[in-house]
Amino acid sequence: MSDKQPIYILPENTERTVGKDAQRNNILAAKLVSDAVKTTLGPKGMDKMLVDSVGDITVTNDGVTILDKMEIEHPAAKMMVEISKTQEAEVGDGTTTAVMLAGRLLENSEKLLDMKVHPTVITKGYNLAAEKAREFLGELCIDFEHNDEILKNVVRTAMTGKGAETFRDNFSEIIVSAVKQINDNGKIDLNNIKIVKNKSNGVEDTKLIKGLVIDKDRVNIDMPTKIENPKILLFSEALEVKTPDDTKISVSNSAQLQEFVDREDKVLKSMVEIIKSSEANVIFCQKGIDDIVQYYLAREGIYACRRVAKSDMENLARATGGKLVSNLHDLNNNDLGNAEIVEEYKHGVDDRMTYVSGCPDPKALSILIHGGSEHVMDEMERALQDGLGDVATVVKDGKIVAGAGAIEMELSKRLRDFAHSLTGREQLAVQEFADALEYIPLTLAENGGLDPIDVLTELKARHDNGEVNVGINITNNKIENSLDAGIIEPLKIKTQAIGSSVEVATMILRIDDVLASKTNTNQRGTGMGYPGME
Ligand code: ADP
Ligand code: MG
Repeated sequence: MSDKQPIYILPENTERTVGKDAQRNNILAAKLVSDAVKTTLGPKGMDKMLVDSVGDITVTNDGVTILDKMEIEHPAAKMMVEISKTQEAEVGDGTTTAVMLAGRLLENSEKLLDMKVHPTVITKGYNLAAEKAREFLGELCIDFEHNDEILKNVVRTAMTGKGAETFRDNFSEIIVSAVKQINDNGKIDLNNIKIVKNKSNGVEDTKLIKGLVIDKDRVNIDMPTKIENPKILLFSEALEVKTPDDTKISVSNSAQLQEFVDREDKVLKSMVEIIKSSEANVIFCQKGIDDIVQYYLAREGIYACRRVAKSDMENLARATGGKLVSNLHDLNNNDLGNAEIVEEYKHGVDDRMTYVSGCPDPKALSILIHGGSEHVMDEMERALQDGLGDVATVVKDGKIVAGAGAIEMELSKRLRDFAHSLTGREQLAVQEFADALEYIPLTLAENGGLDPIDVLTELKARHDNGEVNVGINITNNKIENSLDAGIIEPLKIKTQAIGSSVEVATMILRIDDVLASKTNTNQRGTGMGYPGME
């Protein structure tokens, strides 16, 4: 028997890290991700400039965008990126917060690991703390009484620190009216708000269009460029004569050919007759429009766009109140949509778009962003999306909490009290959880150029004093009641951030063995084969 013979159960090129090393590596990676976004948190957070492999530049303050563009490779770090994406998908804001919490939970768990606390005890304590935190959030949140001022404050809070800050009064008007307008008996689908960019003028010209901007010009230059009080036909088929590809037409003399052409012309003309008699004077056609039809339509003074995207057609129906028509013979005057104006506009150098505006009660809308450069407009779009996400969340969920670190401070305080009631080692984990929450106000202060320890000490004292909504207002550097200061956030940002950060921390802490197959042989060493993580 040979006991010297090594046994291989894994392919040769698999790198394996086990036990403590695996844990520490993963924790370090998670912490690096959290550190990467840390400086962007809050009103005085800084932006990051990301340049991709082909040289495209993104300037942003948005956590999820930063992590997405970083092309992170480490598996544990990727799990962190995932939570920012979930946060974005679920709430549309709070991505930096979620990642920072997860990073801090993992960092703090290292202390406990050093004290030989078993990872399962830590994760149990974290989950216990998260459950308790949700309970406290339930006690601390406030019912939002459908009040526009509060909604605008929610938007202003979401916008602080974004490049959009200067325009936040304008933006908050736009966002609140947009969400209220598309609210369909409590159902809010943000897909019904289409954000369109026009590189001209300044950001201050960004506006809400009660209708839609469609990325299509009129098909024929003889058509009018503007129609007032239009009657809009939304047609989902082609305005053409359909001859299947394999049809053979045999004509033996020119008279026959002429007859064929005349017949086709008649069919096409009759399409225009039907449209005309329905009183439609604008057509959005999902498919093609024959040249001859275009000619007749133009002669009748009808405005038409072709090959309009299906999603735009559906949104047009929601905006104008028109119905999608698929058969002209069924066309009825009642199927037509309404607006105040349909008009062609020039975007940029030679791009033309069609504006459908002044719809009576649109359930789909466009927000038109203006700006001098693509980078600026992109960041405005992200800011708008954060605001839209927050307002939609508040309107649906009906609960708000005090921002500027107030809610985190109060949760932290209550969790510390709760920890005292525990006897086992989980107590230590609950304390670390409480500590992790303080990382948010601490970082807000730090990014705002304040002394984080001073701020934290005063916040603690005031919360101990029963001032549950006191936070650090970074706009005026005052420690004050965040609700009174109008710094308000949706409850869901916090429940989601806490839930997903604990989830990822739990997952990462439970790993004690990393088996990575190497695909690339010239990776630099971390013992893990992931470049950039040494
Ligand atoms: P996230 O990606 O987590 O949303 P942000 O950079 O948008 O990160 O920052 C959000 C944090 O900034 C929240 O905790 C919010 O309460 C806080 N905040 C917003 N406005 C202020 C303010 N005027 N003073 C202090 N904190 C603020
Ligand atoms: Mg935010």
